[in-house]
Amino acid sequence: MDFVEPHSPHWFYLVEQIDWSLAAWAGTSIAFGRSKNVCTFCSDIDARDFRVKSARLESAAVPSLRLCSTCYLNRLIMGDRLVAAVAGNSWAANPAP
Ligand SMILES: [Zn+2]
Repeated sequence: MDFVEPHSPHWFYLVEQIDWSLAAWAGTSIAFGRSKNVCTFCSDIDARDFRVKSARLESAAVPSLRLCSTCYLNRLIMGDRLVAAVAGNSWAANPAP
């Protein structure tokens, strides 16, 4: 699947069908952060894009997330496999100070 930019209209279209609460949460994060370029979960402005390879059935088809370093680690703990959308731009390879 082609990379779906997090928080784009196409991303919301897909995620609203898969996980309505995640789409609603992302909408709140964007409103709170006053930008689409914030973390999907917490509105942190220092966020990077990831493809999601989930082991969890309920979010198997969420294509991508925009994550700060904290939420990146939380998603790993929850069982997601995250692949940087831009090669080398993962929090794992290049963590925040
Ligand atoms: Zn976050």
